[in-house]
Amino acid sequence: MIIKEKRRLTDINRGIALRMLWQALLKLFYPPLPSCVACGEPFTSVYPLALCQGCLERIPFVTKPVCSRCDRPLRGGETDPCRECQGETYFYEQAMAVAVYDGYMRELLHSAKYDFRPDLARGLGTIFAVWAENETRLEEIDAVIPVPLHPEKLATRGYNQAELMAEPLAAALRRPLYTGVLQRVRATLSQSKLSRRERKENTRNAFAVVNCLAVAGKEVLLVDDIRTTGYTLSAAARALLLAGARGVKVLTMAVGVTPAQWKN
Ligand SMILES: [Zn+2]
Ligand SMILES: [Zn+2]
Repeated sequence: MIIKEKRRLTDINRGIALRMLWQALLKLFYPPLPSCVACGEPFTSVYPLALCQGCLERIPFVTKPVCSRCDRPLRGGETDPCRECQGETYFYEQAMAVAVYDGYMRELLHSAKYDFRPDLARGLGTIFAVWAENETRLEEIDAVIPVPLHPEKLATRGYNQAELMAEPLAAALRRPLYTGVLQRVRATLSQSKLSRRERKENTRNAFAVVNCLAVAGKEVLLVDDIRTTGYTLSAAARALLLAGARGVKVLTMAVGVTPAQWKN
């Protein structure tokens, strides 16, 4: 009786082992689909994109007509360059953006920054990589530099979202990604609560280049998640030019299109 019982148990164990083996083999030959970094749904990835088609369709990509200096979509009747670029001088020569800072893109960028989602930040960078493929304005770029965070902010957040977004981009462009060259030497107040003039003042002397040799004579692409007034990026570009960079272009995942929200 006991022997019979033992044999039954052995049969059950063998059955479980066989099933596990079968499942492992299935996984080997039919690996599970990757899941979209934005919505978590399994999807068939189109390399290198980490987002599914449904999520991509929800992103408000920049569409023409745009401002020739900053890629901001021109609103009804607005002439080129856009209102934001008129009367402003920036230290970068060209600003580019992939999407408008609105709707789903606003949600994604917020999450990538504040919900401890380094995977989402890097995933969004795969959009940069695809976007950059046929972008003639990036042909002269020698190096990619993400806008750095102040060390205190980096310690709190745990990662620099701009740096993670720039990784797939630099790989796609086959250009070096410099992460320690430009540094934030002054902790700035959060730009979102400041007026336009305060923002400009707030970013003054916020950046310094610690390795001038790395940027000397080079055309640099500065990368960040969001551009609103452009003052932060312009201050970073100024530091790079002072260090000897030949020129600076900027690329952000999103550009703000509702200037009324950042007060005059
Ligand atoms: Zn998705
Ligand atoms: Zn413009």
